[in-house]
Amino acid sequence: MELLEPQPLIFEKSRPGARAARFPAFADGGADLDAAVPAQFRRREAAGLPELSEIEVVRHFTRLSQLNFSVDTHFYPLGSCTMKYNPKVNDRMAALPGFAAMHPYQPAATAQGALELLDDLEHLLCEICGMDRFSLQPAAGAHGEFTGLLVIRAHLKSKGEGHRNKVLVPDSAHGTNPSSARQAGFDVVTVPSLPSGQVDVAALERLAGPDTAALMLTNPNTLGVFESRIGDMAAIIHRAGGLLYYDGANMNALLGLARPGDMGFDVVHLNLHKSFSTPHGGGGPGAGPVGVKAFLDPYLPVPRLRRVEGALAWDHDRPQSVGRVRSFAGNFGILVRAYTYIRAHGAEGMERNSRAAIINANYLKAKVRARYREAAPGPCMHEFVVVPDEAIARGIKVADIAKRLLDFGFHSPTLSWPIRNCLMIEPTETESRETLDRFADALTRIADEAASDPEKVRSAPHRLPVRRMDEVAAARNLDLRA
Ligand SMILES: *Cc1c(COP(=O)(O)O)cnc(C)c1O
Repeated sequence: MELLEPQPLIFEKSRPGARAARFPAFADGGADLDAAVPAQFRRREAAGLPELSEIEVVRHFTRLSQLNFSVDTHFYPLGSCTMKYNPKVNDRMAALPGFAAMHPYQPAATAQGALELLDDLEHLLCEICGMDRFSLQPAAGAHGEFTGLLVIRAHLKSKGEGHRNKVLVPDSAHGTNPSSARQAGFDVVTVPSLPSGQVDVAALERLAGPDTAALMLTNPNTLGVFESRIGDMAAIIHRAGGLLYYDGANMNALLGLARPGDMGFDVVHLNLHKSFSTPHGGGGPGAGPVGVKAFLDPYLPVPRLRRVEGALAWDHDRPQSVGRVRSFAGNFGILVRAYTYIRAHGAEGMERNSRAAIINANYLKAKVRARYREAAPGPCMHEFVVVPDEAIARGIKVADIAKRLLDFGFHSPTLSWPIRNCLMIEPTETESRETLDRFADALTRIADEAASDPEKVRSAPHRLPVRRMDEVAAARNLDLRA
């Protein structure tokens, strides 16, 4: 592995007088400029910027960009986040001038191609999820959850059931679920899980009642376990008069294999920036479309696409709608990428991908379980959760293991969620067996080191340009300007 030496900061590289482009002097001595920027608005001292040649600047920033971990450079088994390969053809399609050069205020009559794509994408997502309608507006998973819950609330109110104020959320749920429920004005009731990792259905039955608005569920759940009693859970919630919300942020085990609509879910959101291979990380952009069964269609965000005499147009006249949740048509470039992914793979390709994601996760799990305890024994779906008992007993934290993995060229798994001191590992379908073997070897070696040389793990990373941060000092003496 390449050893990266610490490089000087760009300010340390500065040499007085070094320049990139040189502009010719003003022919008139700068008289126009004097008129354009009055003296009192001008800088009195030079800005103190580093002085460098163009190639030094290019190399500095190119090198910085390569210090980062990314899906395009490293294996990224960040459980629940589905950091799969993002095919470059998706970007090529989104960059087609006919899409990329559009203006959001362009009249619909001149944007029929783009609107056809949105309309087609909506229908494809309906077919994939077993839903009747989709809104492509929400810009992220959490945004989709919030929108979906607003839809549920609007529906309950219109039925005179506005008193239903409880949303049931299993203890293994993604943190966005309870916060979206609170944001949408509901109270959160936690549903416990069984030792198997599945929802305690008997507890769910006790908790569901006349105040239940909805159950929010991820299936397979965040332990990578399929909730096989989903039929019973749907019956319990519907009998109690509530609705079923599917957190489909991670559909990587289900695409082409099973549909939330068929499991009894009334509302779903998808993360196109996970399962549908559009890039994510670093805060965006994303897309979290929301799908509903037909009876909830009137409440979806405005505007909706409608075909009038063969042409698509935006319909704003929907009095029961929850309103707009995002500007324009959502993150259009991300929608084009997801559309490309769906069209490029087709139903069969997506099913193959799901099967490969499940096999990869089970293969990796089988390779590491000798040294890392499985949180939920038995076969998993797209991801699995393990606890490094031996290392923890020696005073090593899961974050230490994550930092040691960086030395071997791997991004960290998700840590300490959904249970304490765990690693949540999602290999995705796009990784080769060789990569999975190398990752399993690294985890095994770290388990060995935890026994033979624990300080090596505790003080990792050793081979990166930035070493261990002082997390306590960083929290106590926060300096956001450094
Ligand atoms: C990622 C994720 C979310 C949230 O999605 P964002 O786009 O980050 O808001 C919600 N639920 C689950 C299960 C997730 O994995």
